[in-house]
Amino acid sequence: MNDCIFCKIIAGEIPSKKLYEDELCLAFYDIQPLAPQHFLVIPKQHLSGASEISRDNAALVGHIFSVIADLTKKLGFADGYRVVTNCGEDAGQTVKHLHFHVLGGKQLGSFN
Ligand code: AMP
Ligand code: ZN
Repeated sequence: MNDCIFCKIIAGEIPSKKLYEDELCLAFYDIQPLAPQHFLVIPKQHLSGASEISRDNAALVGHIFSVIADLTKKLGFADGYRVVTNCGEDAGQTVKHLHFHVLGGKQLGSFN
């Protein structure tokens, strides 16, 4: 995807504060953190959002969640964190490349 900022981050064309990378995904800190700990995990494959998760690529999501569990342990907030993915306009998705927000490091408020 030529104009996708997260694809550009994966390609190294836009800098990011990288936390973890493997052949399937990349984790980096959110540029506008909403909690003391706030990072994003994205698949290297461009999927526009959670609505493009299918039986064919579902294993990728399991992999990403295992990376999230490892990273929260490593960063010391595995006892409490929230994983969020916004999908589509009504959810306020601003970057149309599937991403999982991981938030923690404080008592998170109620969801809505
Ligand atoms: P969403 O609103 O769910 O689409 O979230 C997109 C997130 O990407 C926001 O929290 C932004 O702060 C974050 N973001 C946008 N551009 C960058 C960037 N260059 N580096 C890190 N995070 C970014
Ligand atoms: Zn992309």
